[in-house]
Amino acid sequence: MSGCEFALIETFFANRQGPAIGVRLGVGDDCALLMPNPGEELAVTTDTLVGGVHFPVDGPAEEIGQRALRVNLSDLAAMGATPRWFQLALTLPIADDGWLEAFSRGLFAAAQVHGATLVGGDTTRGPLSVTITAIGTVPAGQALRRDGAKPGDHIYVTGALGDGAAGLAMLTDRSEQADAAYLRQRYWRPTPRVAEGELLRGLAAAAIDISDGLLADLGHIARRSRVGARLHSGRLPVSGALGRYAPRQQAIEWALAGGDDYELCFTVPPARVDRVEELASSGQLTATAIGWIIPGAGVACRDEFGQDLKVRRDGYDHFKS
Ligand code: ADP
Ligand code: MG
Repeated sequence: MSGCEFALIETFFANRQGPAIGVRLGVGDDCALLMPNPGEELAVTTDTLVGGVHFPVDGPAEEIGQRALRVNLSDLAAMGATPRWFQLALTLPIADDGWLEAFSRGLFAAAQVHGATLVGGDTTRGPLSVTITAIGTVPAGQALRRDGAKPGDHIYVTGALGDGAAGLAMLTDRSEQADAAYLRQRYWRPTPRVAEGELLRGLAAAAIDISDGLLADLGHIARRSRVGARLHSGRLPVSGALGRYAPRQQAIEWALAGGDDYELCFTVPPARVDRVEELASSGQLTATAIGWIIPGAGVACRDEFGQDLKVRRDGYDHFKS
């Protein structure tokens, strides 16, 4: 793309949002110029969504736009960062105005909800792929990291698990039934837990967002923190919709290994558990205690009889054969 590339950027991506704090120069020059406030660190993250791998290429363009930004903002949420700016690298097989109109509408709707401003990007021709670099800010030294968990910490998750995998499994299901629609929407529009991440600064010892499944992502906390984790399957929070849609065993499997939930998993030292429970019971934080950090390595999940659960997959790995 060349000639129409600039018109495309102008029409669909430039000047779609009002002026934003901290943007000295946005779309249109060789770089964006951004200004964090003194005392803040920048949290920077990139995620690529490849058509046919991360979403069906014939999926609704508006939902692809929503999902692309939301999954990136989820990484900021997992660090306790506040979303500020983002860049969009878009690869398109053809420049279809209808597709671009719907895609950008979804993208900017998600941006509006979370206060993120598009400040630049790149546009090329090729198989459909959407790469977003999201930039957030966090008070210096207060970011939530994967390597802070200690034996004795309680393990929590926000929201409900398993909906994303259930939604993905039923994308082709055109049913208008309320639970089906809810689960599909949980796949296309995961909620980045930004407010929760901000609230957990100074409270959580470690945090991660659940993109590949709880076992896999908690496994990253365990490895980085050099500890083990024990979960109890009976405590895993499952939505009403998933509870009605799937048998318990399928729901637990999706909750543990399904992926695409974009909830936060975090650990809390015993001394701060009361504060977290207080936030939970006052409705400021939707979070459920699901287990404990223990000395050792690995993540084990026990069922209600105290037996170790064997779960088939532990998360999505692109290069696993
Ligand atoms: P360069 O060749 O210097 O990288 P480009 O021609 O690729 O510049 O882009 C021109 C301007 O448009 C830059 O500010 C770039 O950040 C922005 N831009 C390109 N593609 C997009 C896009 N899909 N969304 C937002 N901004 C874009
Ligand atoms: Mg460029």
